[in-house]
Amino acid sequence: MITLKEALNLPAEEISSLRNELKREIENKKEINAYVALDESGDGVPLLVKDNIQVKGWNVTAASKILQGYVAPYDATVIEKIKSAGLAPFGRANMDEFAMGSSTESSYYGKTLNPHDHERVPGGSSGGSAAAVAAGVAIAALGSDTGGSIRQPAAFCGIVGMKPTYGRVSRWGLGAYSSSLDQIGPMTQNVEDAAILYDIISGHDRRDSTSADIKYAPVTPNLDPKRELTIAVVENYIEGASLDIQKGYETAIKALEGEGHKIVRKKMMGAKYDIAAYYIIATAEASANLSRYDGIRYGNRAEGVEDLKDLYLKTRSEGFGEEVKRRILLGSFVLSSGYYDAYYLKAQRVRHLIKNEFEEIFKEADLILSPVAPTVAFKFKEMANPLQMYLSDAYTVGVNLAGLPAISLPVMKNSDGLPVGLQLIGKHFDEQTLFDGALSLENAVAYE
Ligand code: GLN
Repeated sequence: MITLKEALNLPAEEISSLRNELKREIENKKEINAYVALDESGDGVPLLVKDNIQVKGWNVTAASKILQGYVAPYDATVIEKIKSAGLAPFGRANMDEFAMGSSTESSYYGKTLNPHDHERVPGGSSGGSAAAVAAGVAIAALGSDTGGSIRQPAAFCGIVGMKPTYGRVSRWGLGAYSSSLDQIGPMTQNVEDAAILYDIISGHDRRDSTSADIKYAPVTPNLDPKRELTIAVVENYIEGASLDIQKGYETAIKALEGEGHKIVRKKMMGAKYDIAAYYIIATAEASANLSRYDGIRYGNRAEGVEDLKDLYLKTRSEGFGEEVKRRILLGSFVLSSGYYDAYYLKAQRVRHLIKNEFEEIFKEADLILSPVAPTVAFKFKEMANPLQMYLSDAYTVGVNLAGLPAISLPVMKNSDGLPVGLQLIGKHFDEQTLFDGALSLENAVAYE
């Protein structure tokens, strides 16, 4: 598939043949189930959109039964922005229901397959976006990342996925999961395309009160892989990862040293605290955000009800899947009066500590190199126990809790041909350094 950069330089008359070629490819590789619908909006360069981003006139559903029949009345800010940049939303990407998951197994539309091995998950929750780009059935895609949902599927599928600094990209029109963590970001074939798409969707938006009103300079014109950077590696992080990931990590460190970067070794509190704080905060916010789906204003409404309470009860019982219900229950529990201090408040304090810990490292380093997931793509149903699945988010959720930007990119394949992805983490609003470092790593490892 041609790159986003190339597609944006195509003459207008070639875009419709590109579109037709894309449709043929999608049909040929239908079994991957990366697309839940082939909706189109406009004639620009086709860009795949995760099913939780509002595109006017589309049945945007967050891969949930409860939103069947809902028609988005407006475009998300990122959609307005891509349209003015000559792109056109094309297709809704499969995902975990309401972006809750790490495998895309919880979608109402059925699972998406990992293009490298159909018995394995593509990651999640933006699994459809990642699988489509990896399989050559999308030029690029938009995903959303609350606790790793862009970076982890990118790593599992061997593509590039980037989560911007919290506040850099408008959340207006993104179906809310956990509002203090959610960010939309690019999922692409290479680092340069990610920078291009990131530049297109970034910037202040007064419709999102958490959007940062600070000066924004595009990164693409200034991309410089030759800058010499100080990169921290977190020694104690890697111990919990599989041998494949450890090998990828060592390969990347050598490659970065070879490019002239300085490596410093650090330690962090780590996963145990990150996971606990994340799953308290994310579920708390989710339980509040999802209270709006009650059968009155949006999508599906249960039939044969007796009164209003019955309508709420039946609509929500029928409309939400098991994982979403679990999280609403968890979130309501941690916010309930008797437990608020013990869980929610404590989690907020831990979040603060995590932020401080990153800041301490960034006094010395420009970037941090870390695994994305403890393993390569796992098999379907391998994570049958929800807690086991949550634990697999060990390396990604801390970045969201701290609001930092990060980019995931493939560095090698294991002996089964499965991609090994790693992430670079940057300072708040220093996406330039993040992309510079990522481009340098991409060049050095020459992943094919
Ligand atoms: N896997 C994490 C979760 O299930 C992250 C999801 C996301 O980033 N949307 O919450």
